[in-house]
Amino acid sequence: MSPGPGSGGLVVCAPLRLEARAVRRGLRGRGEVRRSGYGPARAARRAAELRDGSFGKLAVGGVGGGISAGLRLGDLVVGTEVSRLGSAASVTCPSAPLLAGELRRAGLRATAGAIVTVDHLFRRDERERQACDRALAVDMESAELLTAAAGRPSIVVRAISDTPRRPVFSPWAVPGGIAALRSLRLAGPVLARWAAACAPRRVLLAGPRSFCAGVERAIEVVERVLEQRGSPVYVRKQIVHNTHVVTDLERRGAIFVDELDEVPDGATVVFSAHGVSPAVRSAAAVRGLDAIDATCPLVSKVHAEARRFAAEGYQVALIGHAGHEEVEGTLGEAPQAMTLIETAADVARMEPPDPSRVAYLMQTTLSAEEAGGIADALLERFPSARGPGSDDICYATTNRQVAVRAIAAESDLVLVAGSANSSNSKRLVETAQRAGTPAYLIDGPEDIELGWLAGTSVVGLTAGASAPPAVVGQIIDALSGLGPVEVSERVVTTESIRFGLPKELKQ
Ligand code: SF4
Repeated sequence: MSPGPGSGGLVVCAPLRLEARAVRRGLRGRGEVRRSGYGPARAARRAAELRDGSFGKLAVGGVGGGISAGLRLGDLVVGTEVSRLGSAASVTCPSAPLLAGELRRAGLRATAGAIVTVDHLFRRDERERQACDRALAVDMESAELLTAAAGRPSIVVRAISDTPRRPVFSPWAVPGGIAALRSLRLAGPVLARWAAACAPRRVLLAGPRSFCAGVERAIEVVERVLEQRGSPVYVRKQIVHNTHVVTDLERRGAIFVDELDEVPDGATVVFSAHGVSPAVRSAAAVRGLDAIDATCPLVSKVHAEARRFAAEGYQVALIGHAGHEEVEGTLGEAPQAMTLIETAADVARMEPPDPSRVAYLMQTTLSAEEAGGIADALLERFPSARGPGSDDICYATTNRQVAVRAIAAESDLVLVAGSANSSNSKRLVETAQRAGTPAYLIDGPEDIELGWLAGTSVVGLTAGASAPPAVVGQIIDALSGLGPVEVSERVVTTESIRFGLPKELKQ
């Protein structure tokens, strides 16, 4: 009988003595290293001996041949899937992105990708054929050795000792081998951290999470413009603050620019979900640009409030973060009549021309708790201050904060999917931290530090309003490579809000 997944120690299989020695030196006793011998037949025999052993997780470590042209000697390839040459079947290692990310943080060059196990040393033309099949590297043992895992967490790390440009039978063989063995040794401590993070877990999902109606609309605007007008389509600033969304739209023909002067005359330009100031709209009109506005209607509502208060002679305190695109756009509605307030201390410094005519508005993605505290300070100093007609902090921001607070109470750790420039995602991290739970912002599974996971049994998971739902799936998948994962969800409310497209795009 094999022990439960995650329990029991780490066994690392390395084919040859030199490889085993490099891994052993790196591991420093935090795992057992066994030689498998060279080639698939010996590896298969070793796997059969190991299968019913008392270890808890299996790693395969050794040198490998690079297929991808981008690889250099000493690079590490972490196998996302490992197959035998010519076989459609493969073994997947879902935690590969976690290990590859951790190796990169340790200063090593590491890529997660497919590995093919072959039964002979590969010639150059064979490697080129494999490259077409998207494998990054070849080896001669991993597919066989992985059969020993039998449901336990498993991983494969191959250090590249030769590449198509630096083949094995060439003067590069010795430097290639030295570089690969050095990388294997340096990977040892990271493999130990991977093993320490292996355990069965519960993943507690916050509901709602991920895309809001404003983000869905903004992405659809760019997609429709690409469909109707063809590429290139220029987008001023990131359409929403998420690297996955931006990369995907770039691939489909969108060009993201910081300012309008980067957009050619007469071209189509989309304004992002965060909104723009009237000055930007005028500049686009003067240039004759075909401007399509993807500003979220809830941001437009705050702009309208700013215009109204300013027209009525109020000095408007905008509670928000300096430099955020939404704040710049809103301030631009009435620059003379608006004051940016970031903290309660800023309230004390505010000097309105008429203290009886003060109003306040908020950035839509703030922490409700923090912004409420600043509004209270403002009302204390200016008791007649007028607020927005309805909450400026939008429904999506509020719902996601309530939901993350609910899961934080039950979690050992909270992961928030979102990019570093996403205001609402950062507020989710802060909300979970205020609830007393360690919380981290991650763009994807590769950002998860293995040390965060060690000793955790319940991981709370949510995503900011600009983070795609698919990223949540990728994170769960990666965690499942560290042991069985049981997923449940805490839904605090459901959302049904939808926004229509701008009239120029309605067909
Ligand atoms: S977070 Fe709120 S304001 Fe921002 S795009 Fe989404 S719905 Fe609109």
